[in-house]
Amino acid sequence: MIIVGPCSIESQSQLFGIINQLKLYDIEYIRGGIWKYRSTSNSFQGTNEAMDWIRQTKEEWDFKFVCEILTTHGIEDFIENYIDVIQIGSRNMYNTDLLKQVSEKFRHKPVIFKRHFSSSLQDFVNHSTYLKNENVSLVLRGIQTLHSHEQRFFPDFTDIPRLRELTSHPIIYDVSHSACHSKYVPSILEAANIFKPDGYMIEVHPDPSNALSDADQQLDYAEFNSIFENLERMKIWINK
Ligand code: PEP
Ligand code: MN
Repeated sequence: MIIVGPCSIESQSQLFGIINQLKLYDIEYIRGGIWKYRSTSNSFQGTNEAMDWIRQTKEEWDFKFVCEILTTHGIEDFIENYIDVIQIGSRNMYNTDLLKQVSEKFRHKPVIFKRHFSSSLQDFVNHSTYLKNENVSLVLRGIQTLHSHEQRFFPDFTDIPRLRELTSHPIIYDVSHSACHSKYVPSILEAANIFKPDGYMIEVHPDPSNALSDADQQLDYAEFNSIFENLERMKIWINK
């Protein structure tokens, strides 16, 4: 499984352009944030208009939409009809109320559950047990270290084998959030592949330097293309 798409859905044209592009590669799982959990209140929080844009794209293209939710209240119908894979973001790993809502209201929906950047593997696995959904994948997305002032997150792909000993859920490696910068994405993908995750997440944006969130780490189309052309050389076999 590979999940690709922008950090945030920013406009109708951005979303339509990205989906058009990713469908050229037969990417099935397309991500995009509608509601963003940001560290400062004056940064882009996502836009509810993106719900309409998603409804429109779903009429034209066949794809599985992967989207983080911060709550289920008031958006039950949208989740039910338009979100194919529910993402629980790292900042909500400890939000047991949200985990219970997802289990109770959307037990039939696949969930990807992200590790909090300060969580131990055991705590991560313990919290995953709140999700009673049939299909739950755990996402490693980089952790904070003593040197977070130099690099926000540190790649945690070497935790893949230890996590496997603690859980039977599939493990997805989020290359973009753990790389922190697009220039490191290809080598971190290649290195993570040695530890054989069951899937990957990669952020792609048509114009990363002007992205409204995670501008540093998103790949542009040319960078994504060059990774995609090299998957075989990197011995990465993905089920798109
Ligand atoms: C994201 O996937 O865009 C995101 C905010 O990730 P995380 O919750 O891992 O920070
Ligand atoms: Mn992001």
